[in-house]
Amino acid sequence: MMTNAKIVLIEDEKNICSLIERILAPQGCQVVSCFTGRDGLELIRSLRPDLILLDLGLPDMDGLTIIEQVRRFSTAPIIVVSARTLEKSKVAALDLGADDYITKPFGTAELMARIRTALRHRQNQSPYQSSRYEVEDLVIDFERRLVKLKGQEIHLTQIEYKLVSLLAQNAGRVMTYESIISKIWGPYADNDNQILRVNMAHIRRKLEENPAEPKYIFTEIGVGYRMREE
Ligand code: CA
Repeated sequence: MMTNAKIVLIEDEKNICSLIERILAPQGCQVVSCFTGRDGLELIRSLRPDLILLDLGLPDMDGLTIIEQVRRFSTAPIIVVSARTLEKSKVAALDLGADDYITKPFGTAELMARIRTALRHRQNQSPYQSSRYEVEDLVIDFERRLVKLKGQEIHLTQIEYKLVSLLAQNAGRVMTYESIISKIWGPYADNDNQILRVNMAHIRRKLEENPAEPKYIFTEIGVGYRMREE
C-alpha cells in the first residue's frame, strides 16, 4: 500500500531518524533524512516527496517556518513529529497547513497509521505547483509571494495576492464566483459577489494596462473569472 512512497524526514535527533528509517524501510518507503531546516527545504524542492515528516525544534530554524514555506508551493502531507506537547504549537502547526501531529515518544503502529491516513488523502494531481506564473509582462513568484509587471514589483494587499495566485495557479480554467469566494473567504462566507468584484477591480487597476480590456484576467459573465494561460 505504501510501496514507493517518497518521504523526506527532517529531524535533528539522529536516534529518532534511524528509528523512523528502520520502521519505514521495510514498508517499501523511500526515506531521505536530513538534520536541518535548510537542507529539508532543499530536499523537498528537489525530490518532491509524497509526504514530509517534520520535527519542530531544529537547530537552524523553527519547523513552523518550514510548514509555511512548503505550503507556498506544495500540498504534500506534512506530519509533525515533535516533543512539544503544548496545545499551542500543535494548533499553530495545523493552522499553517500541517496535516497531522504525532508526539514523541511514539510507537511503530501509531506512526504507520498516521502515514497511511495522510497518504490516503493524496489527490491524483501532483501536490507540487509550478513555482512561477509568467505570461507576457506579468510574473508571479509563488514562493517569494512576489508579483512583477514589466519588471516592476506590484504591491498587492493580502486578499488581492490570494486572489491573483489562486487564479494563476488555475490559469486557463474558469473559476466560479462561488468557488473563489469559498477558497478566499472560507466556506461559510457570505456568497455576495460584491466584495470579490471590488477586489478584482483593484487588481485590474494594478495589473492591466486597460482594465476595461483585460489581458490577464478575463470575466466570464455570470460565471466567474479565468486567468490567461501559456
Ligand atoms: Ca529536535
